[in-house]
Amino acid sequence: IIPKKVEKPPIEQKPLPLEQPAVALKTLELNLPITVKDLAIKLQEKPSFLIKTLMSSGLMAGINQTLEESIVAKVCQKYGYQIKKAPGQEELALRVHQEIDKGELLQLRPPIVTFMGHVDHGKTSLLDAIRKTKVAESEYGGITQHIGAYKVVLPRGEITFLDTPGHEAFTAMRARGAGVTDIVVLVVAADDGIMPQTQEAIDHARAAGVPIIVAINKVDKPQADIDRVKKQLTELNLTAEDWGGKTITVPVSAKTGQGIDNLLEMIILEAQMLELKANPKRPARGVVIEAKLSKGRGPVATLLVQNGTLHLGEVIIADKYYGKMKGMYNDRGQSVTSAPPSFPVEVSGLSGIPGVGEQFFVIEDEKVARELALKRQENKRQQQIKAVKRISLEDLHSQIQEGKIKELKLILKADVQGSLEAIKETLNKLQSQEIKWNIIHEGMGSINTSDVILAIASDALILGFHVDAEEGAKELGAKEGTDIRTYNIIYELANDIK
Ligand code: GDP
Repeated sequence: IIPKKVEKPPIEQKPLPLEQPAVALKTLELNLPITVKDLAIKLQEKPSFLIKTLMSSGLMAGINQTLEESIVAKVCQKYGYQIKKAPGQEELALRVHQEIDKGELLQLRPPIVTFMGHVDHGKTSLLDAIRKTKVAESEYGGITQHIGAYKVVLPRGEITFLDTPGHEAFTAMRARGAGVTDIVVLVVAADDGIMPQTQEAIDHARAAGVPIIVAINKVDKPQADIDRVKKQLTELNLTAEDWGGKTITVPVSAKTGQGIDNLLEMIILEAQMLELKANPKRPARGVVIEAKLSKGRGPVATLLVQNGTLHLGEVIIADKYYGKMKGMYNDRGQSVTSAPPSFPVEVSGLSGIPGVGEQFFVIEDEKVARELALKRQENKRQQQIKAVKRISLEDLHSQIQEGKIKELKLILKADVQGSLEAIKETLNKLQSQEIKWNIIHEGMGSINTSDVILAIASDALILGFHVDAEEGAKELGAKEGTDIRTYNIIYELANDIK
């Protein structure tokens, strides 16, 4: 038997069609975009050969030409590689902050508390009353400085209060990406009861998933009617514990100080249930809660540490600025050398004034921090050219089909209660299997900036019926790319949603 001549496989003459799937691709990590020259080095290929390969697939490229990701992917596939984007400088520098702490390293940290409620119900008075009595009583003593937050030390624990009360500041911070508040204290004046901004505050706290403790304030007033407030709270699903509900409700008076110790006690209790923990032994990260230009000290910012410990002399990046922490002061104006979790410190040394609500991170290498900051400044400039786009009704359709969205968050504003009811009824009829509505806030009156901030923080759409958006709200909405839609006919609203 003459063995059949085994033919050698033909030498590849034509380049493979680039789409051909290769088997078991190896991974090649690349910085993208990449030049032909650099790609050739990565592929251990002669640049002239690579240029030929590119040419055969219709791309005339010079050796210094930069290649797009899709082309690089195809070429690499041909060489038996799948590409992986090498982590960017920012990702590398911040990687340490992404690491998850092992349980044994975690320690309890003080809760961070924000006061919210209707205007004039006593948020500022309560903050001041607590500050005056508790800070002065504490072991440090001394006069307090307004740095945007302060800490009280109690026999059973510590609490950090954010000094900017109100839900707008709260949600604006959240819109920047960092929710700092652990517990919301909802302040309701005992003589006034639930008012529109009380309702707003509740919705903002709920949208953020932050637990609410109610302080019924001004109980010293003769017109105070605690039971009426509790009844109203029940209607809003905030039934007081002594009424069979779950909401901690404390009668207080900022004027006489009555009930304040009890309120602080309740905050500590709630915090214990939340088991708030952080690892003080890692590089610090946290949030900017105040920033300004000081005549003598240059840019000054109050930072609230969320994890790790910030030390004097360390370098941070905050927003698009960086700097070595020069002076660090606590809320009593005392110089400190470190700030553990939940500790607010005023710092100087930053290269500019970061935005409130922006996150900060310790970066080991000052040079890296500087480069990152410059890169961020450049990116910000680019972004300003390209307007940001948040969710719009038009995007939704494709996102729903891709299965990316299962819930449509809505903010409804209308002229009268009857309109709100009618819209909700119509929306209910449109409820489908694939997608659910979640009305995160509803109210009467024009669309205001607080609605827009909430929409930004929660990726919601705003629908107005027989109402308009206030100028400020329109401006903010346009700047942030929030979809604000107003209607005069329910049918049209329903049709759009459909
Ligand atoms: P905010 O707008 O919620 O910060 O409210 P403020 O703290 O500015 O208080 C509004 C007004 O209510 C001020 O005139 C306070 O003096 C007064 N006020 C606040 N708390 C109390 C209280 O417990 N009792 C009485 N009688 N008045 C209070």
